[in-house]
Amino acid sequence: MRLSGPLLALSILLSGCASETAEPDPASCKNNTLAVQILGSGGPIADDHRAGASNLVWIDGKARVLIDAGPGSFVRFGEAGAKFEDLAVILLTHFHGDHVGGLPGLLNAGSFSKRDKPVMIAGPEGSDAFPSASELLEAFVGKNGALRYLSPYLDGSADLPKITSLNIGVDGENRKAVMRNDGLEIDAIPVKHLEVPALAFVIKNRGKRIVFSGDQSFLSEGFEQATRNSKPDIMVMHNAISMADGQPRGLHRDGRSIGEATQMAGAQKLVLSHHMRRALDDKEAVVAAIRENYAGPIEFADDLSCFPVLE
Ligand SMILES: [Zn+2]
Repeated sequence: MRLSGPLLALSILLSGCASETAEPDPASCKNNTLAVQILGSGGPIADDHRAGASNLVWIDGKARVLIDAGPGSFVRFGEAGAKFEDLAVILLTHFHGDHVGGLPGLLNAGSFSKRDKPVMIAGPEGSDAFPSASELLEAFVGKNGALRYLSPYLDGSADLPKITSLNIGVDGENRKAVMRNDGLEIDAIPVKHLEVPALAFVIKNRGKRIVFSGDQSFLSEGFEQATRNSKPDIMVMHNAISMADGQPRGLHRDGRSIGEATQMAGAQKLVLSHHMRRALDDKEAVVAAIRENYAGPIEFADDLSCFPVLE
């Protein structure tokens, strides 16, 4: 039977209600004692219809750690119910636009927040082609920066919370301590992302361990050594290339390499994010390649997906 008029309107209304009630509440991730929420699950190109790379760690109902702030993450941050004043630290894996493009909007929003404690932005040291974390901060909110009206952030004047920066060396392959307070233990691990200074992060709380791989290639042997047998509760890795020939394997791990690193770490769950269209279109082959080495659970994150670690 074809519906028309009031019957059709009623049918649309009812089906709309049904799908809305079936969707999980994106702001409910905070209800867990410890959880990872993917804010932006996309890559650098808008054709994946996702926000750029960004993740939150929720602890005791507060968004404590922001890892990357890709374009669009500003909107997702609000949808998740996160508050700028709750952040203990902002970790940046590297300074490609798909990982930091949302930061100016977040800092602008932060000037409206009730925060009074300093917040730290930690990221890699610079190179000829890339700034360091402190240079990036200067470029945004320094006295000669693009958003220089926010420069009181740098000395904590004019009622703005002070923002400090930490430049993390990318030489060597060892873990580097980033933070040890408030029950948070955060380490950085240098990774290979072609010539881009880049980091992975390991976050520990209450004996649980979460690994954010960042963008990294199969050449990241230091990452494999540093995470070997560490049995992370969640390992977030990036689904950026297909299994076809000619993919940029100096930039990103393919499915086989993701499976190897995940298995080596003994991860209890693999969360795939930073999806690019070419990888999503080759999903079956990517999963089959991961499965050559890793037998544990695999989750494909969407924007605002929530992965509880402790309920
Ligand atoms: Zn990226």
